[in-house]
Amino acid sequence: MAVLSRLLTPKQLTSSSSTIFPTFSSYYSTAIKATGDGRSVQWVFLGCPGVGKGTYASRLSKLLGVPHIATGDLVRDELSTKGPLSPQLSEIVNQGKLVSDHLIIDLLSKRLEAGHAKGESGFILDGFPRTIRQAEILEGVTNIDLVINLKLREEALLAKCLGRRTCSQCGGNYNVACIDIKADNEKPAMYMPPLLPPSHCASKLITRPDDTEEVVKERLRIYNEKSRPVEEFYRARGKLLEFDLPGGIPESWSKLLRALNLDDHEDKRSAAA
Ligand code: ADP
Repeated sequence: MAVLSRLLTPKQLTSSSSTIFPTFSSYYSTAIKATGDGRSVQWVFLGCPGVGKGTYASRLSKLLGVPHIATGDLVRDELSTKGPLSPQLSEIVNQGKLVSDHLIIDLLSKRLEAGHAKGESGFILDGFPRTIRQAEILEGVTNIDLVINLKLREEALLAKCLGRRTCSQCGGNYNVACIDIKADNEKPAMYMPPLLPPSHCASKLITRPDDTEEVVKERLRIYNEKSRPVEEFYRARGKLLEFDLPGGIPESWSKLLRALNLDDHEDKRSAAA
């Protein structure tokens, strides 16, 4: 660990990232060679816990045909394997803390390599980078095209995390929270209806162990301390798109597509049907 922290000093990061994280760098050199200039999008989603990164990243990934890679999912997959690292990892996650940069990059490298072997190219990252160190390492190995910073009113974030539910059978994500914020002098009203599960999932819903009030508050605190600076990192590089979510999925999705200059033909077809 001492060696690792010495190697990970900010000054050496970019130049030494290929020696510290050889897999990560070798994935990129292959991917960039394979796809050339016409490569698929390489986008990042930033935003507080509960803002909806997973929802919009997953919709965009389907629309653009690139994988949605959520590092939180990689951590939960690792936990479910109950390997030697699991007890330590679950303690960190269940306290709302961040796992080490080294471990998260190892998990991400393996995921990217596995995807590359299956012919995947491009990505939408969700939950990575979450520290300046992770952002520097990523910047050192590839060119991120766009970083979407999702923003939602503070009052809604906690309620949205506490309302999250997943179907233990099909993995579908739902939210039982109904956000109904009245207008005041400064801000307009905001309504986000619950996203309820279909009846066949209703009896199989589970809640993430880190979605308790105490842990969500700690995750929000850690976001402000460790991840907020990542916004500035990308803002300074002209890559940050700020996006204020106006409400629930229907209004937010169409507004996001407009901000990205994209068109969702599927969505229009199903709305017209
Ligand atoms: P959130 O809803 O808070 O955005 P995620 O599902 O993205 O949660 O992540 C769950 C947990 O996994 C985090 O609280 C953290 O412990 C760990 N994690 C995920 N991504 C990272 C990362 N990039 N760096 C460090 N820890 C991470």
